[in-house]
Amino acid sequence: MPSINAIIERLGATRTCDANLTSDPWSTPSAASQYGPGASAQDGRIRMAPAQAPIPERYTSASAQELRNEIVEARHRLGDRLLILGHFYQRDEIIEHADFVGDSFQLARNAADRPDVDHIVFCGVHFMAETADILSTPSQTVTLPNMAAGCSMADMANIEQVERCWNRLTDICGTGRDEDGRQQITPVTYMNSSAAIKAFCGRHGGIVCTSSNARSVLEWSYKRGRRVLFLPDQHLGRNTALAMGIPLERMAMWNPMRPDGGSDAASYSTASIILWKGFCSVHQRFTVGQIERARRAYPDVRVVVHPECSMDVVNAADGVGSTAYIVHEIDRAPAGSAIAVGTEINLVNRLAAEHPDKTVFCLDPVVCPCSTMYRIHPAYLAWALDGLVAGKVVNRITVDPDIAHDAKIALTRMLEVHP
Ligand code: SF4
Repeated sequence: MPSINAIIERLGATRTCDANLTSDPWSTPSAASQYGPGASAQDGRIRMAPAQAPIPERYTSASAQELRNEIVEARHRLGDRLLILGHFYQRDEIIEHADFVGDSFQLARNAADRPDVDHIVFCGVHFMAETADILSTPSQTVTLPNMAAGCSMADMANIEQVERCWNRLTDICGTGRDEDGRQQITPVTYMNSSAAIKAFCGRHGGIVCTSSNARSVLEWSYKRGRRVLFLPDQHLGRNTALAMGIPLERMAMWNPMRPDGGSDAASYSTASIILWKGFCSVHQRFTVGQIERARRAYPDVRVVVHPECSMDVVNAADGVGSTAYIVHEIDRAPAGSAIAVGTEINLVNRLAAEHPDKTVFCLDPVVCPCSTMYRIHPAYLAWALDGLVAGKVVNRITVDPDIAHDAKIALTRMLEVHP
């Protein structure tokens, strides 16, 4: 495996990730950006985004080895009562402690499959911990080690905006059934959304999807509804619909920042899919130019990207799919091959280390980690686990029972249609 510096030089880049990312997350000036340094830094502060209170100084001043020892000791003391889930995009110092590592779908399944544990510690972001709480039993606790670990995409749709959108769309499209008995609009929300939006989908005959089952979910939805309102990631919605043969002319955009969504009534009534104007700050960094550069540097390179990337990037790539798909593609690639990947850098670097016989590199050599995932630092994990050992649950994520009930309907539909 060539060194990352050699790859960067070959691709012609001049710098790596923002050096600020070497700072610890508690050093982030929260007034400047709720999402800290890195790829999401320019998203600005989201009103109402959860914040994390300072944790004791003994955690923030501990060395990496001291934190590691503390986590290992606490895990040992909690034994089988504890389940630690780690998202693929978490840093290595967290992943080494996880019982399961996966994408949001796989981790939701893991949470649902383990009613025997007392405590689930979710090393991911806020919406994932909410989902774990909804799918776990009432006596289990779910902890998010750092409450500021949100998701900029999930925060691009709040429930008030979605209710306003729904009222307008049902005014335009009606609420009755069409000639085939289908409802006029089926709301579909990506897993990367709040529990309140998942509950909205559950109440309105809708469903949740992930990047690994988006196509199956859309097929399910078109059997029941004439149109789909797809929340909150426009790119996953557009890329999936295009792959199903729905042309761009049958897609409309709902911009929550514009009056009435920014388009006229005719565009919404004739659309097969209405895309919410949200995006992932990390995946929108990938460009066609980066793919061209990778192909010049490595003529036989295989380019695989995540469906949160733009349509142009997906069209220029050789393969598109969820993080689980990307992991599988790299596993099955022959020794000696070069694979350029359009997804979060922590995962790409881990895959590169696991496959020293292949050249695995991130399409954007200056891409930064998901800066909200990055907020789960071992100091927060050690603090949360020590709390559990002492019988105190810190940073417990609890979803209102009414919201959880409706959200579970949409999540259960998702689990049932997974291919
Ligand atoms: S990678 Fe993108 S979608 Fe995933 S948690 Fe980070 S900001 Fe959200």
